[in-house]
Amino acid sequence: MTLRELKPGESARINTVGGEGALRQHFLDMGVIPGAETTLIKLAPLGDPMELRIHGYELTLRLADAEKIDITPIAEPARKAPAKKAGTTDHPGLGEEGKFHPKGSGDPLPEGTRLTFALVGNQNSGKTTLFNQLTGSNQHVGNFPGVTVDRKDGPIRGHTDTSVTDLPGIYSMSPYSSEELVSRNFVLNDKPKGIINIVDATNIERNLYLTMQLLEMNVPMVVALNMMDEMTGNGGTVDVNAMEAMLGVPVVPISAAKNQGIEELVRHALHVAKYQERPLKQDFCDSSDHGGAIHRCLHAVVHLIEDHALRAGLPVRFAASKLIEGDELILKQLELDENEKEMLDHIVLQMENERGLDRSAAMADMRFSYIGQVCDACVKKPQESKEHKRSQKIDRVLTGKYTAIPLFIAIMGLVFWLTFNVIGAWLQDLLAKGIEWLAGVTDAALTAAGVNEAIHGLIIDGIFEGVGSVLSFLPIIVTMFFFLSLLEDSGYIARVAFFMDKLLRKIGLSGRSIVPMLIGFGCTVPAVMSTRTLPSERDRKMTILLTPFMSCTAKLPIYAFFVSAFFPGHGGLIMTGLYVLGVLIGILVALLFKNTLFKGEAVPFVMELPNYRMPSARNVAQLLWQKAKGFLQRAFSIILIATIAVWFLQSFDFHFNLVADSKDSILAAVAGVLVPLFRPIGLGDWRIVTSLISGFMAKESVVSVLEVLFTDGVASAMIPLTAATLLVFSLLYTPCVAAIASIRRELGRKWALYVVLWQCAIAWVAALITRAVCILCGMG
Ligand code: GDP
Ligand code: MG
Repeated sequence: MTLRELKPGESARINTVGGEGALRQHFLDMGVIPGAETTLIKLAPLGDPMELRIHGYELTLRLADAEKIDITPIAEPARKAPAKKAGTTDHPGLGEEGKFHPKGSGDPLPEGTRLTFALVGNQNSGKTTLFNQLTGSNQHVGNFPGVTVDRKDGPIRGHTDTSVTDLPGIYSMSPYSSEELVSRNFVLNDKPKGIINIVDATNIERNLYLTMQLLEMNVPMVVALNMMDEMTGNGGTVDVNAMEAMLGVPVVPISAAKNQGIEELVRHALHVAKYQERPLKQDFCDSSDHGGAIHRCLHAVVHLIEDHALRAGLPVRFAASKLIEGDELILKQLELDENEKEMLDHIVLQMENERGLDRSAAMADMRFSYIGQVCDACVKKPQESKEHKRSQKIDRVLTGKYTAIPLFIAIMGLVFWLTFNVIGAWLQDLLAKGIEWLAGVTDAALTAAGVNEAIHGLIIDGIFEGVGSVLSFLPIIVTMFFFLSLLEDSGYIARVAFFMDKLLRKIGLSGRSIVPMLIGFGCTVPAVMSTRTLPSERDRKMTILLTPFMSCTAKLPIYAFFVSAFFPGHGGLIMTGLYVLGVLIGILVALLFKNTLFKGEAVPFVMELPNYRMPSARNVAQLLWQKAKGFLQRAFSIILIATIAVWFLQSFDFHFNLVADSKDSILAAVAGVLVPLFRPIGLGDWRIVTSLISGFMAKESVVSVLEVLFTDGVASAMIPLTAATLLVFSLLYTPCVAAIASIRRELGRKWALYVVLWQCAIAWVAALITRAVCILCGMG
């Protein structure tokens, strides 16, 4: 029978894994291999995908993919007897201040060589947390597989001649997603002096799978066994010395979050890199396993390609493993001749016959069986971790069949309500009052000092009105990010991806796309960047093109401004309406894409579901501080400059004479060119056009520019109909320059240009419809 037919709570042993290519490799790399035992935990609320437990962790899988996996039901997965009591003495052993040489001698790299390290590990294993501890920087940490999307470097604290690179999280060295390729190429091409391999001890089997492949890279390496606080807290232990002996590299237990063991880790890392101590072991094949089929195959291939690998600058053992798995990229790099290729095929075929498994499955099986031995010998697993039990309890509600989606809507509703109506609004009020007071005081002081009228105008009407009005939105924006980061850090967003997958597939996306979209409510720039974790190009492109429809926080000032001026008391309703409108139009566009530009099925959805974790106060505080800082920087750079520029241009005419009425100004003349375009949608006022143009720089400046240009206040100069149209237009028109730049980075110039054009077109049409509807409803 197939995995699809398994019922929740039932267990099975996997017989064969169907499918083909990179995707199948990914299944195998995630531990879905013949012989593995798995338990179906549950189906998503909409019946698809399913949540499996395999190798001690939770994984999502779509029913369509589960159908390709053949299984035999079993009563219960065999629970391995707990290993012998693990010792904790003697650590550290291997690698401590030199395995191969006495202290002070040996053959170290010349003084002054920059020690570069790659930080490599599975997604969500704590890399960024460790990176922050090592370097003292403030990178964003999240409890979601795939938060780190581009690499970051920094020196280890107290060791200026070093550099650590935080690479994206990967599960294996197969080029499945662009992340995996980035990390693999970093190790192969940038040739770091050492690797710090971070391993989540609570999830050790799956994490060691990557370790096995890293060892083959033949680069000096230390294993940082992270999350030891959780491990020992639940009665588990790891015999570190035994593990070092089996892996042939130093193993250091740490807790990145609690800052334990970091110093020791640094000492070991510096040491192995300085003395270039390579892994003692790379050979994990067993000559007695199934007649040594894989063992012989691997060694034969190693001999066959040795000279080619040397020429191509690839680690031999790594190249051999990848060749056996059928890695095309490596095959090309090695430049084997026809004869050798044929020989390779024969060797592999012979192995497949003897082993009774295909090439990829055989390799995965070989690695997992060695990991099995390591874990049996060195790891005493906790019976069941508190964290896991708690996660399951929470999941019963948050991903329950009838509760998941209503709760999701309720949670998002609560977040928006708290942000706009309660916390954010209250803080904003306070700040606005403060700014007003300061403006009043400054105004009085300037008048008293008899300052020149133009400068007085610039400071009060330009800077205070303009930048001040934007600045007061800082609290709302920070509050919004606070909640988004709580959701992400706790592990909830991963669940959302799980139960929304089926719905998202209807519009041609996968559950994973939900993350960029939710981040998009904060800011489009990181949202676009976070799409790099999506394994398929098609999904990635589509997701990027859709994120601008998720209304970002920079547009909030615009909404709040018009709501308070024109629709007081309806704030919640209008804001929600705008957000929903953005999402709905996004869905329409997605459907359009799905049936035209991006035909075809979304790629499979294989994702790990991490345990819920209490977000750390430090991480959250850091994130908020960064967002606040970023916002302030924008307010006092782009927005300030735009405001001042606009103020000048509206104060002078082409002869640089101060104008009495700003409609004779330079700005009125320039913006006037575009006015006819906006006339049909009722926004044909040069001041509005100017504000929209400045919004292209930064959305917040729409408000500051309006404040500057409408000297008698916007409320008296506009009618609600115009306000409503303008709101819809601002919601949908082109993303700001920063967002466009990030889209361009991901998709290229052409797409970035398209985005600008069609977003403007969509906004125009939507504004026209809004206007028509409003007029029909008797507004205006
Ligand atoms: P990355 O995806 O590998 O960069 O992982 P992150 O650094 O973003 O961390 C993932 C999650 O694990 C976050 O919720 C962290 O707070 C948590 N975490 C990291 N290190 C530890 C640790 O040593 N102990 C515990 N209990 N949690 C940790
Ligand atoms: Mg990270």
